[in-house]
Amino acid sequence: MSIIESSQKRPRILVVGGGYVGLYVAMNLQKKVKSHGGIVTVVDPNPYMTYQPFLPEVAGGQIEPRHVVVSHRQHLKHSELINGRVLSIDHASKKAVIAPVNGEEYEIEYTDVVMSAGAVTRTFPITGLAEQGIGLKTIEEAIALRNKVAERIESASNMTDPAERKRALTFVVVGGGFAGIETIAELEDMARHLVSLNDRVQQSEVRFVLVEAMGRIMPEVTAEQAEWVVEHLRSRGVEVLLNTSLADATDGYLQLINMADKSPADAFYSDTLIWCAGVMANPMVRSTDFPIEQRGRIETRTDLRIKDANGDALDGAWAAGDVSAVKDVTGGLPDGTCVPNAQHAVRQAKLLAKNLYAARYGVGRIKEYKHKNLGAVAGFGKNKGVAKVVGIKLKGWPAWMAHRGYHGMAMPTFERKFRVLGDWMVAWFFTRDALQLNNLDAPRTAFEETAKPKK
Ligand SMILES: Cc1cc2nc3c(=O)[nH]c(=O)nc-3n(C[C@H](O)[C@H](O)[C@H](O)COP(=O)(O)OP(=O)(O)OC[C@H]3O[C@@H](n4cnc5c(N)ncnc54)[C@H](O)[C@@H]3O)c2cc1C
Repeated sequence: MSIIESSQKRPRILVVGGGYVGLYVAMNLQKKVKSHGGIVTVVDPNPYMTYQPFLPEVAGGQIEPRHVVVSHRQHLKHSELINGRVLSIDHASKKAVIAPVNGEEYEIEYTDVVMSAGAVTRTFPITGLAEQGIGLKTIEEAIALRNKVAERIESASNMTDPAERKRALTFVVVGGGFAGIETIAELEDMARHLVSLNDRVQQSEVRFVLVEAMGRIMPEVTAEQAEWVVEHLRSRGVEVLLNTSLADATDGYLQLINMADKSPADAFYSDTLIWCAGVMANPMVRSTDFPIEQRGRIETRTDLRIKDANGDALDGAWAAGDVSAVKDVTGGLPDGTCVPNAQHAVRQAKLLAKNLYAARYGVGRIKEYKHKNLGAVAGFGKNKGVAKVVGIKLKGWPAWMAHRGYHGMAMPTFERKFRVLGDWMVAWFFTRDALQLNNLDAPRTAFEETAKPKK
């Protein structure tokens, strides 16, 4: 395995993952580090950061997919960018192994490492889930869902077999957290719009089912608001099944069970199974020599340095965002750590950049991370939403405005903010863009058909 560039020649800050945390750390450090003769190196399999809170709106046709991702090349011009995956880290020798998207694995040396590889979708061993399901954690999944819902409705309009039609028009989301609720609400809104344009399908034929294992949805808002959301979804025709879980998904035949006694609940066919039942820390952290806590996250101090075995700071090792377990001094998860969300990710990233700079170059002071949760905002399609912001509870249009206002501001870079704003304005006047694009998986089909030698 080859080794590239020793850290002795050029002090390197290695950023593992260019998502929310990685992008902000690199943006805040790249010029400063360069002025000291060092380099910030960002490694990510994707050449962009994804603003995940907008994925449901992308799936629902409100925002164009490319507008919710931020190009590394365009916004990290003073960083070294590696399109690849960090496979392992040996912090004792300050070396990482990288698998580029194309090419052979190699080793890289660093002075400081920032662990920001985020989270992955958490699944359970349910038969058929891997074959039938799709998550909503990436832009590709959001694009696929937008196309799938549109395609199923269009295809169903030509189906004559009632069972086949029913299956095509049944859409299921598993997971009643923020992501699951926003996803089902946006997709339902889009589906209703598509059906209104198609005389061959009736609104009553479209079935949306939300499956949630707990007795309530959306733990981020009050119980009263969560009940309102359930009522709201039901008023839109969404079946909300609480205390219910998916037991089997073989061949698209979804078998649900009651959580209380594991007895069978509903069972039906569906072509669209969307899995939004939570996330877990990126398992790549297990290929490092950093200490990992029981939820699989890296043990991280409140100054965002990774802990050693005694809880002291490891030299040159930092972590933030979904991959880290940082004590929330204001409350947080039952174990007292920060909730994995964008609110913490962006603030931790900015502080991490300052603290790292202070530790490495002696400029500024190392500070502790402290952030009191501002609340939560969620959009459920045009003019619909729920929010709890600094204790103020909102529903409907005001909540939807709060959702758009907050996320519009939080979208990284001015350039992207304006693109998203543009999409919203266009959709406001001309409605959402729910157009289905064909053959995205096989774009050469049309060419192949004409280029094939004719017999
Ligand atoms: C559908 C959805 C809706 C959400 N809505 C909200 C919301 O409304 N409010 C809110 O606060 N939060 C929300 N979140 C959560 C929020 O998006 C995350 O908490 C936030 O993105 C975490 O930032 P991060 O930098 O830790 O991880 P990410 O932003 O996920 O970045 C991780 C990066 O690491 C890269 N990576 C992965 N493995 C490797 C590897 N081996 N080597 C190198 N790079 C790697 C990935 O490609 C990615 O770019 C939502 C999440 C989802 C999925």
